[in-house]
Amino acid sequence: MKPFDYSRAADARTAVATVAARPGAAYLGGGTNLVDHLKLGVARPDLLVDISRLPFDRVEELPDGGVRIGANVRNSDLAAHPLVRQRFPALAKALLSGASGQLRNAATTGGNLLQRTRCVYFQDVTTPCNKRAPGSGCAALGGYNRYHAVLGASEHCVAVHPSDLAVALSALDAVAVVLREDGELRVPVAELHRLPGDTPDRDTVLGQGDLITAVEVPTLPATARSAYRKVRDRASFAFALVSVAAVLVVEAGTVREARIALGGVAHKPWRATHAEQELRGAPATEDAYRRAADAELAAAEPLPGNGFKIPMTRNTLAAVLRGLSEPDPQERR
Ligand SMILES: Cc1cc2nc3c(=O)[nH]c(=O)nc-3n(C[C@H](O)[C@H](O)[C@H](O)COP(=O)(O)OP(=O)(O)OC[C@H]3O[C@@H](n4cnc5c(N)ncnc54)[C@H](O)[C@@H]3O)c2cc1C
Repeated sequence: MKPFDYSRAADARTAVATVAARPGAAYLGGGTNLVDHLKLGVARPDLLVDISRLPFDRVEELPDGGVRIGANVRNSDLAAHPLVRQRFPALAKALLSGASGQLRNAATTGGNLLQRTRCVYFQDVTTPCNKRAPGSGCAALGGYNRYHAVLGASEHCVAVHPSDLAVALSALDAVAVVLREDGELRVPVAELHRLPGDTPDRDTVLGQGDLITAVEVPTLPATARSAYRKVRDRASFAFALVSVAAVLVVEAGTVREARIALGGVAHKPWRATHAEQELRGAPATEDAYRRAADAELAAAEPLPGNGFKIPMTRNTLAAVLRGLSEPDPQERR
């Protein structure tokens, strides 16, 4: 492991100034992703600025009934928070579907959103990977690509974004509050992560030194129901093959509003805007749900190892929407 300096941030502005001024510096949250990458040689910072003790550790109610989540709120505390459990069960469910109890006790909200891909080639420094070593190639294209992208990928990178929380926040229209040297910025979570294009080394729209201080989740319409469903190879400690977060408003058998985000299918949480458009004003029926899924998946391009993701996404999306329109008490808002 490359040697690095360590400092504990005294306050957010000093942390931002320090990391912005030093290209080799990185923030340390709970460390559950970054420390693995230090050990694997995937990340080689020369300074870690520990932000885990900055006072961003509260979940607060917003005047509109939404919640403001401090960037240092641990995943397990967030999943257990009464406001989250009552008003945003999809969020709690997404969190509890991720990692393990021990990891969730350490992992922070900010770090979870900015965790890096689990592509095996990204994590193996002996293989080509344009995300880790730009210009070196993409070993996943001709290799093991069962977990990889079917939407929005490029010839340079087919990795997927791993966070369950980010998928739920995207469907909930949440906004990340970001501190940078010249002030505060509000970035919709649905626009925080980017597609790989020819610069897959950049996961997000954030720049060096940008610090997530909080995430705000606006209230849902009174009749909205929300759900998160994750399909994976085993029941715990496994990343999504496919996941679906959805918010649905159905009135008198007609879909009034639909917000859908897909996980495990793209380099970012994939906001399913084509499906949403197809659903607004449509009858709340199985046929309409499957048509919406087909509209979204029309652009899907499977790799040799992951063609199954297309019917899996279609079926999971239809099942989630069906569950929300014929509510299961477990999935009700
Ligand atoms: C075995 C295993 C299984 C897992 N399974 C899942 C899963 O199923 N689903 C899932 O979603 N996750 C899963 N995870 C990932 C886990 O959720 C993440 O490691 C964790 O959420 C990262 O949070 P952290 O606070 O530890 O981040 P860190 O490791 O501290 O940081 C991650 C990145 O974010 C940056 N960063 C941290 N905080 C901030 C901030 N406030 N502002 C700006 N930059 C910041 C760091 O510089 C670093 O680049 C798994 C992890 C492991 C090890």
